[in-house]
Amino acid sequence: MDSYDVVIVGLGPAGLMAARVLEKNNINFLGIDSKKEIGLPLKCGEGIREDEFIKFFGNTDFKFVRNKVKEHVVHHKNFKRSFKADFLQLDRPDFEKFLAGPVKDSLRLRTRCNNINIKNNLVEIKTNKETINAKLVILSCGCDYKIQKKFNLVKKKQTFFVCYGGIYKESKLERDKFHAFFDDEYMGYLWVFPKDKNTSNIGFGTVNKGINVKETLTALLKKYGIDAKQISPYAGIISCSGPIKKTYSNRLLVCGNSANQVYAGTGEGIYYALESGILAAKTAVKAIRNNNYTENFLKTYEKTWKKSFGKLMKAGMIFFDLQSLATKSNKLEYLLKKPSDKELSQFIVDGKVPLRARIVWIIGKILNKI
Ligand SMILES: Cc1cc2nc3c(=O)[nH]c(=O)nc-3n(C[C@H](O)[C@H](O)[C@H](O)COP(=O)(O)OP(=O)(O)OC[C@H]3O[C@@H](n4cnc5c(N)ncnc54)[C@H](O)[C@@H]3O)c2cc1C
Repeated sequence: MDSYDVVIVGLGPAGLMAARVLEKNNINFLGIDSKKEIGLPLKCGEGIREDEFIKFFGNTDFKFVRNKVKEHVVHHKNFKRSFKADFLQLDRPDFEKFLAGPVKDSLRLRTRCNNINIKNNLVEIKTNKETINAKLVILSCGCDYKIQKKFNLVKKKQTFFVCYGGIYKESKLERDKFHAFFDDEYMGYLWVFPKDKNTSNIGFGTVNKGINVKETLTALLKKYGIDAKQISPYAGIISCSGPIKKTYSNRLLVCGNSANQVYAGTGEGIYYALESGILAAKTAVKAIRNNNYTENFLKTYEKTWKKSFGKLMKAGMIFFDLQSLATKSNKLEYLLKKPSDKELSQFIVDGKVPLRARIVWIIGKILNKI
């Protein structure tokens, strides 16, 4: 039976980033994923904040960085405004292949984790092929909550953005901006992220139940006069419930989407996945060096990610709640118009909630409207 110090379950941005840290620290680890090829299939808008990307990778001179944008344009009916935020448009499959490069010999694909048993002296990872033993598991398998539920790490029923989109031939919208289209009928938005001169990553996500997202996307493109022809499709879900109750247990650390580390208001999650993957792996390295896998020891992981981006997680949930409230009470335009450019940018990019927004949110909570 195979045995490792650490097994990483799931090789998206979180798992791959964790693998890179373990590799650098000479840890005996294995990364497994059920998919056939790293990076595929694509299920993402592929936008990432630029400053943090540079913090991780030093610069933006990579072939998989396909576009740089400085502004986000918000559209609602005939109203349009923009605010500053430096983002990059990636080719995410190529980005993940780049992440996997230095660790590829320690990755095993077509290997699905079906169950995890935590014992006193080890963890058993039951896969579709074999049982693998480890001292510690990093769980980074995206929006799959089976294991988290088993170990009582998820607090409540979750809400998801159900999304449909793809890569489209589209060249009419300004190429150096991300575009978000809001609509009174749906809690969610349509995004158009220009990838290069002729193509854009376009998608629509909503929390509204019983909606055909594919048909709605087509209808919204028509409504907003966006001339786009699909090249390849994708579908996926994003949790907007905020981080799970607990992101660690004995011999277990949970990161990225598996921990719901997503800005709930927009569905942005790549940056948080990368950062939490690093932080989980750093904690794993310490656990191995100290031969201590107790949850008491591992809880430092939760402290570190909260310190790094906990504020943004909270702001994202407030943004989500306010958007829900505004959609329900026909005040969406007010919500989108009211903040200054600086406030809007700080709310979404820095996690700084404008005072007015915080007051409305608190009143909404007290009156049970949110
Ligand atoms: C439609 C859509 C658009 C989005 N757009 C953006 C965007 O523009 N910008 C942004 O920042 N974020 C975006 N997000 C969110 C972002 O994609 C996620 O937050 C990010 O992918 C999280 O990375 P992760 O590594 O935690 O999980 P994932 O990327 O989901 O990776 C999880 C991996 O685990 C594997 N796996 C799952 N179950 C198992 C199992 N049982 N055994 C083994 N392997 C398993 C999967 O195959 C997958 O490779 C979007 C999400 C969706 C759905």
